[in-house]
Amino acid sequence: MKVLFLDRDGVINKYPGDTRYITSWKEFEFIPGSIEAVAKLNEKGFKIFVISNQAGVAKGIYSRKELDLITKNMLSALKKRNAKIDGVYYCTHFKEADCPCRKPKTGLLEKALKDYNIKPSISFFAGDSMADMEAAKSFGIQSVLLLSGREKISSKDKWTVKPDYIFDNLLVASHYLCSHYE
Ligand SMILES: [Mg+2]
Ligand SMILES: [Zn+2]
Repeated sequence: MKVLFLDRDGVINKYPGDTRYITSWKEFEFIPGSIEAVAKLNEKGFKIFVISNQAGVAKGIYSRKELDLITKNMLSALKKRNAKIDGVYYCTHFKEADCPCRKPKTGLLEKALKDYNIKPSISFFAGDSMADMEAAKSFGIQSVLLLSGREKISSKDKWTVKPDYIFDNLLVASHYLCSHYE
């Protein structure tokens, strides 16, 4: 079983900016090619899980209900184009709460595999931030940095992890993963 964990903001949808959040569906805008990428990965047999920190809920910027509505709309927009995300997992806690689920911790990755009773033969975490790369590293899986969100090549010197792969966006990453991991 091939598994791809995906961050959400800056990967599937446009990055809202540092310290900013997507607070409603009308602010959610797919990154061009991200839906197509998911559909391609589905076709090649990758299980796909979204793992996302959404501390805006703890901060009261948007509610859990609003977040669930965004998720529901995202999944149905994907479905309309034959793309499927198998599970969506959020950490909605404050950074200071020191919960086991906030990336770079790996609680949500563990939970996804447990919920679906999956033992991956190969797995990747694709995200746009160092927290994603750190989570991949501590979970012992391959890290894929996408330059479609927070991190830019120009900030390379400050990166805390050297990603295993770097691509411009999820569509480019999907082409690579689909052709190298049949
Ligand atoms: Mg992100
Ligand atoms: Zn948490």
